[in-house]
Amino acid sequence: MAEKMLQFVRLQQRQPDKRDASERRADWGEVYQAFAADAASQQASRCSQCGVPFCQVHCPLNNNIPDWLKLTAEGRLEEAYEVAAGTNTFPEICGRVCPQDRLCEGNCVIEKGFDSVTIGAVEKYITDTAWEKGWIKPPMPVRERQQSVGIVGAGPAGMAAAERLRTMGYQVTIYDRHDRAGGLMIYGIPNFKLEKDIVVRRWKQYVMGGIQFRLNTTIGRDVTLGELRQRHDALLVATGVYKARDIDNAGAGLPGVVAALDYLIASNRKGLGDDVPDFESGALNAEGKHVVVVGGGDTAMDCVRTAVRQGAASVTCLYRRDKANMPGSMREVKNAEEEGVRFEWLAAPEAFFGEGKVEGVRAQRMHLGLPDATGRQQVEPIAGAHFNLRADLVIKALGFDPEDLPAAFGEPELTVTRWGTLKIDYRTMMTALPGVFAAGDIVRGASLVVWGIRDGRDVAEQIHQFIQARGAAPAMAAE
Ligand code: FAD
Ligand code: SF4
Ligand code: SF4
Repeated sequence: MAEKMLQFVRLQQRQPDKRDASERRADWGEVYQAFAADAASQQASRCSQCGVPFCQVHCPLNNNIPDWLKLTAEGRLEEAYEVAAGTNTFPEICGRVCPQDRLCEGNCVIEKGFDSVTIGAVEKYITDTAWEKGWIKPPMPVRERQQSVGIVGAGPAGMAAAERLRTMGYQVTIYDRHDRAGGLMIYGIPNFKLEKDIVVRRWKQYVMGGIQFRLNTTIGRDVTLGELRQRHDALLVATGVYKARDIDNAGAGLPGVVAALDYLIASNRKGLGDDVPDFESGALNAEGKHVVVVGGGDTAMDCVRTAVRQGAASVTCLYRRDKANMPGSMREVKNAEEEGVRFEWLAAPEAFFGEGKVEGVRAQRMHLGLPDATGRQQVEPIAGAHFNLRADLVIKALGFDPEDLPAAFGEPELTVTRWGTLKIDYRTMMTALPGVFAAGDIVRGASLVVWGIRDGRDVAEQIHQFIQARGAAPAMAAE
């Protein structure tokens, strides 16, 4: 039934139901259930159709949110999907993994007093319906173009660029060192936030649309960047950031102290049905163990919640600041708390100890001191305040930095910023190498799926303009 808009005064906010924590702990299914059709249109009808929609301003893709909410409220779902897909390559994925409380929903004007419109859940509903009804088709060009584009990295940035370029008619090849496409959407983000079929079905559509995938191919080892420059008219580097920040405390080298991404990749591979020797051996499996995760970001939250599902005896998160200053999304912290994770706020690891393998963590109590030049309060140790935690598995989740790409690619002319991210001309998105563009985390530093999509779409337009400007000029490496 078509709903009138501006219903926020009458209708309360209702997110899709969450599955009970006891049920969630025992499986890998997503936490949130789907909206029923009438619930989605009712929730969409709460929107007040702002003249200046702050939700849209604060969405990295500037999604036309008021329009697709209105269409959903009116039951015109196919049109709602067309509008949503006009700006977002993966609306069903953003609906699941965007930190909406910091982006669109956190800036919804009815948030003050009435609770925001459930934008992310409606976006997911529209696109899940589009998949069910068969409205989503492989990218099909109106006319083929001869020129080819090589893309290094099959994460959201590379995939979003590929979709755009293929639709424009270019011959697109994506290279990735992994055996599956999706980047961190497949091997980083756990199944309970993003079920893997959702990523795989997009990948399959791209194959059907004529995008070539060269998987198990590491650029800089199996093929050089120079060879790719010879092969293609333009190149996009969208390799993400993977160098884990480390801990140098005593005992950090003990067996049982592992890196977050190794742990999450093993778990995701296991879920995808692969043989994972490090999981089978127990090295990357939390079952029956006392687990301590060090860090307070979303990766740390993914680790603690993965450990719960693997059947850990206990799971503790150690974070040096307090809950209010945690970088992770509050929604994920709440989910973790509900699932039984214990948090030790204002505590930092001092040493890891054990005979031949880790058996415990010695932690230091901290307090928040005066703000530094950036305004953020400094973390300071409280003299003499220490405690020990039992731990058979310690997971380091302190964030990621870029790998040394100029060295890995053997291209010293590929310039980087002081953070190691690739330097680009922000107008053209081109690196220091002519015809080589860059997008996603490798330019921004560790960021979000939605920003990867935004960059991928923008860079596709820049690559198109570059190739068109060159006209029939020879391949770029011949310059
Ligand atoms: P990536 O997704 O990292 O993809 C890069 C690809 O390049 C990879 O497939 C890699 O194999 C490939 N590659 C790298 N080097 C080479 C090479 N030399 N040769 C060939 N291929 C190469 N964001 C959210 O919005 N919501 C979340 O809930 C969320 N959760 C996260 C959880 C975890 C554990 C992590 C680590 C990140 C999470 N993020 C989340 C961040 C998000 O996943 C990233 O910001 C996003 O995936 C970046 O996209 P990208 O395309 O730039 O890079
Ligand atoms: Fe909100 Fe993300 Fe969707 Fe934008 S893409 S509307 S930020 S959920
Ligand atoms: Fe609707 Fe909120 Fe966006 Fe306004 S800010 S258009 S009420 S979703």
